[in-house]
Amino acid sequence: MVRWGKSTRPFLRGKEFLWQEGHTLHESEQEARHEALEILDYYVKMGRDLLAIPFVCGQKTEKEKFAGAVNTYSLEALMHDGKALQAGTTHYFGDGFARAFDIRYQSKEGKLEYPFQTSWGVSTRLIGSIIMVHGDDEGLVMPPYVAPIQCIVIPIQMAKPGILEQARSIKERLKALGIRVQLDDSDKSPGWKYSEYEMKGVPLRIELGPKDLTKKQAVVVFRHNREKVFVPLEELEQRIPELLARLHQELYEAAKKRADEATVNCCDYEEFKEIMARPYSGYVKMMWCGDEACENKIKEETTATTRCIPFHQEQLGKTCPVCGKPAKKMVYFAKAY
Ligand SMILES: [Zn+2]
Repeated sequence: MVRWGKSTRPFLRGKEFLWQEGHTLHESEQEARHEALEILDYYVKMGRDLLAIPFVCGQKTEKEKFAGAVNTYSLEALMHDGKALQAGTTHYFGDGFARAFDIRYQSKEGKLEYPFQTSWGVSTRLIGSIIMVHGDDEGLVMPPYVAPIQCIVIPIQMAKPGILEQARSIKERLKALGIRVQLDDSDKSPGWKYSEYEMKGVPLRIELGPKDLTKKQAVVVFRHNREKVFVPLEELEQRIPELLARLHQELYEAAKKRADEATVNCCDYEEFKEIMARPYSGYVKMMWCGDEACENKIKEETTATTRCIPFHQEQLGKTCPVCGKPAKKMVYFAKAY
């Protein structure tokens, strides 16, 4: 897709980006509504099982929904700087588009009817979310199941007998399991190679030196926390997939913990403004009257926006802290990309 944009930001807002989009047409409203929520659920699972990103999801407000949609649902992820990123959306369109563009189908009764529509999509923006959720000062931290290189084998003192042969054997054995593995046998120093693959975010580094060879083991180092594990060479096939799974789980849990810790309940608008003025503002859960005027006031005064109305609602208070009118919904607010 290519689009005209006033300002661009790498991976998050590009003039040109890759994108996955689906459109479906349904006989009934119920079926179409179900589809929009089911796809949202697939995206949440993709976050949990592949990207190691815990998404907050829910319905967009009237102001923030996609123009023309009856309902828009979104996935929101919290970046390391405390801002939210909308990482994907699904929409229920009703039959409005069908009527506007005269899209009809022949029903079981042989009549021409207007179908109910949905659309949904995610884009290369997800790459931006991986970088900003997991990355650290040394560079990328790739979640294992989407990492282009999952393991890098680095031989130490390559000239010593047996080292290179064993390093090649490790690579071949892991490759046979379907693991995306590479061997760096270039003449750069091991330290240089460590930094290089850390920067690229390779989840596991497998070191093999003369001492390890004697002990029939390899040293496996986790990218995200530098933890070292000694793995007997004969157990590689069993242990490496386990370690990748553990790393994935730890990344997910760390991201979840950061997001949970950055989420506060708020019942006072002055306090809300104070939170949003902080360099790291995070998510704020607050009651809302449902009136767009309050949404606009919040946006003007704090630049924060409603991210979504979560499906799991909590009763934090009876009134909207902005206007004092009865509260209708609990909403996630955040500053966003
Ligand atoms: Zn209000």
